[in-house]
Amino acid sequence: MRHILILGGTSEARQLAGRLADRRDLKVTLSLAGRTAHPAAQPVPVRVGGFGGIDGLAAYLANQHIDVLVDATHPYAATMAAHAAEAAARMKVPIVALRRKAWTAIAGDNWMEVADIGGAVVALGASPRRVFLAIGRKEVGAFATAPQHDYLIRSVDPVEPPLDVPRAAYIVARGPFSEDDERALLGQHRIDVVVAKNSGGKATKGKIAAARALGIKVVMLRRPALPDVLTADTVQDAVAWLDHVPAPPPDRGV
Ligand code: NAP
Repeated sequence: MRHILILGGTSEARQLAGRLADRRDLKVTLSLAGRTAHPAAQPVPVRVGGFGGIDGLAAYLANQHIDVLVDATHPYAATMAAHAAEAAARMKVPIVALRRKAWTAIAGDNWMEVADIGGAVVALGASPRRVFLAIGRKEVGAFATAPQHDYLIRSVDPVEPPLDVPRAAYIVARGPFSEDDERALLGQHRIDVVVAKNSGGKATKGKIAAARALGIKVVMLRRPALPDVLTADTVQDAVAWLDHVPAPPPDRGV
């Protein structure tokens, strides 16, 4: 029985686990970083918390006799992706990255692409704007350097401590979010700029479509550089790859 480790934290990781859960030829473990207080239920056994860098992950791959590694982390989880690629190469464990394709701008979109969160803060400009931040909790703090704006901040768990600016409102919610609901939200809060990550997929695309419909600018954080490993765009492709991946070499060592 092959043991598959899925690095998760995304809906695709959960869907892949669901597709593999009943397979008798596979043992599947899903790994979560442990960032959210109430993670979604998972269809396979879960381990939680960091591995302790590349060395820790390499040791885990050996100790748990992992035969295949699936990096199904979010496209902005660049550190984990790099560690996964390094540890898999070191331990000669086959690896595939399950990554949603990035969104591309279409007619009517008004995107300004920026390299990182600092670039997003600068892109908002000096004049006060009404900003919707939908980028998760981790990097929200950077916007404290631009206190002239009104912020609407949405995240899965509360932002703690709150952003140190005079005007910020918070929404704690987990996607998916429909375009209609996003349009209503942007209108209700009179948002004039959305800051987003190019996450890809359907669950959070509603705000991008809503911004297009309302003529609202989107400051889009570019995806970080990710390691050059074999990539599957969809859960179905990842399953197909798993079914054809060669058996691990006998001299893999520990
Ligand atoms: P990151 O910066 O790439 O990773 C930081 C550290 O967190 C890693 O070095 C690792 O610790 C630990 N880690 C990350 N993912 C892990 C996993 N699946 N299992 C075990 N440990 C993990 O990651 P991040 O951007 O903070 O994201 C954390 C988690 O949230 C990821 O699982 C990601 O899929 C999910 N997520 C991220 C975003 C985002 O925008 N970044 C959005 C949605 C979901 P050690 O070095 O100790 O092993």
